[in-house]
Amino acid sequence: MSNCPVCGKSIQKESKSWKYGKFDVKEYICGCGVTFRDYYIGEEFKFTLRKEEGKGFIKAR
Ligand SMILES: [Zn+2]
Repeated sequence: MSNCPVCGKSIQKESKSWKYGKFDVKEYICGCGVTFRDYYIGEEFKFTLRKEEGKGFIKAR
């Protein structure tokens, strides 16, 4: 579960998840149209990136 970094809506289930080096990544797609990815190391939340048209993924929190 996570919440959208733009509109704040909570989202129960990630769309997909995968390992990226030492990170566990969970990708969410919000109803407001934002795609974002939460990065964890183990259980510990580290940061969020969100998709920005024309820029790719940028730091969101
Ligand atoms: Zn949203």
